Amino acid sequence: MSNLDKHYEELSKCSKCGFCQAFCPVYAVTGIEPMAARGRNAQLAGFIEGKLSLSEIEEALSTCLLCRACVPSCFSGVKTDELVRVGREEIEKNKRGSLLKELVFNTILPYPERMAVLLKGLFFLKKMGLGKLADRLDVIPAFLMMQYPRRFLRYRSSAESTGKGKTVAYFRSCGFNYLLPDAGEATIRVIQDLGYDVIIPENNCCGLPPYAHGYTDVAKDLARKNIEALERYDLILTECGSCSSFLKKYAELFSDDRKYAERAKRLSERILDSSEFIFKNLQFTSHASHGANTRFAPTSHGLKVTYHDPCHLSRYQGITSEPREIIKSIPGIEFIELPEADWCCGGAGSYSIENKEISEKILERKINNVKKTGADILATSCPSCMIQLSYGIKKAGLNIKVLHVNQLLNLTFKTPEIPADK
Ligand code: SF4
Ligand code: SF4
Repeated sequence: MSNLDKHYEELSKCSKCGFCQAFCPVYAVTGIEPMAARGRNAQLAGFIEGKLSLSEIEEALSTCLLCRACVPSCFSGVKTDELVRVGREEIEKNKRGSLLKELVFNTILPYPERMAVLLKGLFFLKKMGLGKLADRLDVIPAFLMMQYPRRFLRYRSSAESTGKGKTVAYFRSCGFNYLLPDAGEATIRVIQDLGYDVIIPENNCCGLPPYAHGYTDVAKDLARKNIEALERYDLILTECGSCSSFLKKYAELFSDDRKYAERAKRLSERILDSSEFIFKNLQFTSHASHGANTRFAPTSHGLKVTYHDPCHLSRYQGITSEPREIIKSIPGIEFIELPEADWCCGGAGSYSIENKEISEKILERKINNVKKTGADILATSCPSCMIQLSYGIKKAGLNIKVLHVNQLLNLTFKTPEIPADK
């Protein structure tokens, strides 16, 4: 009996109406039926019924973005993203996963020091010329877009606390720590500017990447380590939409674990995405108050800014208005709504590497929409989206800067300059 059997009832809820097709970014660019929610669910049901083998349904499972766009559009409420993920668990259980995933999830990701060595090595190779070669060969957006890790975000224990203001713990996401540290530093400065003392505990990867790929045991091991490292703090913030969504999911992940259920629930309740925290602290009252916030020095940027919704922030956590309200509050900035702002950018962690062709077609649609806004800055809140969008903009030859919302906010707190490309 496979884990999937337990989900047969959920799969049976699918009426095969096909309404989800119009919302699936993968189906939109491929037109292939097993790549929309209806098709993926049919394949999973076929496997449970013994009509299809794991290898026959593998493509339908690996090409899902887990973007969840199909779920709110489904009248029967079928949770296709979760069903696909359980299917991937089955693939991993049968040892059909790739050797590279085995290596990354079992021997690198759980060890921050190994991650640091690997990333420093990759950056060294990039500097030594491999970057140019990769550029020419047009491979791996993350490699092309990674910043120089001048310093990874340093641990800061409570012994280094300034004692001024209330303390918050900052969760270091792998993306902002290892690849885009400028955004992490901006977040820390913004929180400090709001009058808080920031502690940076020794956390591990949140566990979302292995979880999404079906490596549930690895994800739970990482989650346990994080619970132990973070449970002493009253409030834990992260600016990574993917991390905040998964840290909030710990409660569900351990709901039937006698030792960790209560601890996981308590921790999940103390997690906030930085946009929720900053929004609350800036105490917005109404649209009429925008531009009058005295925390900001007046700027004369005249910058046009648009915003892309990361799936893990918008659909997994329902956070859509906070980042927009934060942007709109900045004096001198003109906010322009992005058409199809919540349409996935095709980044989805390692999706852009594993399914490059599909990912680029999805990205093309996103970049075309960004172009229509005439924006100078494309703001968002997830490292994977930032990397993918920067890659798309570079490829399209556009002069648009991709920034985290907190980087944008930090500019108005500190210096009215847009950071130069590295
Ligand atoms: S997943 Fe939902 S929307 Fe899609 S075919 Fe099934 S019932 Fe219809
Ligand atoms: S989660 Fe996203 S990619 Fe997967 S079937 Fe649903 S809409 Fe398509």
